[in-house]
Amino acid sequence: MNYVIFDLEWNQPPFAEAAVLEPLYLSGEIIQIGAVKLNDAFEVVDELRLYIRPKYYTKLHKQISALTHIRDKDLQEQGLPFPEAYEVFLNWCGEEHSFMTWSMSDMPMLIDNMLLHGIDCSKLPDCYDIQRIFSREIMRNSARCSLDHALEILNLKGDQAHDALHDARNTAKICSYLDLDQYLEEYAARAFALQPHHTIYPNIHTMLQDEALLTFPCPYCGAEIRCQTWVSQDPYTYINYGYCPDEEDEFLLQLHVYKGQPGSYRLHRLFYSMSDDLWEIYQDRLGQQKGS
Ligand SMILES: [Zn+2]
Repeated sequence: MNYVIFDLEWNQPPFAEAAVLEPLYLSGEIIQIGAVKLNDAFEVVDELRLYIRPKYYTKLHKQISALTHIRDKDLQEQGLPFPEAYEVFLNWCGEEHSFMTWSMSDMPMLIDNMLLHGIDCSKLPDCYDIQRIFSREIMRNSARCSLDHALEILNLKGDQAHDALHDARNTAKICSYLDLDQYLEEYAARAFALQPHHTIYPNIHTMLQDEALLTFPCPYCGAEIRCQTWVSQDPYTYINYGYCPDEEDEFLLQLHVYKGQPGSYRLHRLFYSMSDDLWEIYQDRLGQQKGS
């Protein structure tokens, strides 16, 4: 088994009205994949950096350019179209692999870009959120810590941030301080994509009342799973519990809200196989919501 720590950089639409809406609302288009490969003893064995030539947001947003130091010219000269880059990446990952990321924001972005290009999302591997493992096991809290701050806490000198490969390397450095062998089982969550949902809502409250958002198909048996009440994870992220009686499978459904023009809210949904850790997140949030 290889453990692939990856990080993404993405470009954004120049202004809200320029966002791609078909086949899905596209909040970001991936322009760089950086990855470090660990073997099953969690030793670094290889690394990869790929540039992607954007197809929709073709001009780099000023802020993105400033942050990543990537120029339009780099992408034009070295960038692969996303489907090609993804294939190179996947072949490099090896037959048996799991993904590791810092925070849970890269996986949804990867899925969005796969859906955009019609790439099959049904065989994604287990994914581990190293940020969460670091918080729980080292900091003993549930606060989200930036990669830079985590390096500081461990007294490590990192590579310069906002390059996908550097961020993946920095995450790998932090991994070397974690007893991954002991922790991983509790945190293994596999992500599943859902078809894009195109309804625009006047506010989040109305969105969360929509019954249509409460069901999704079981990835194993196809049965319709029905959830109950949304629980707020943060103001723009909501989670829900799904259970399929067929094989007693449990899932965490996640809804991401995108705020557009005033009175115009869109969403994306995806779900994860339930891990012990996701269950804890759900129970924590549920408890807070009931208590408030
Ligand atoms: Zn099922």
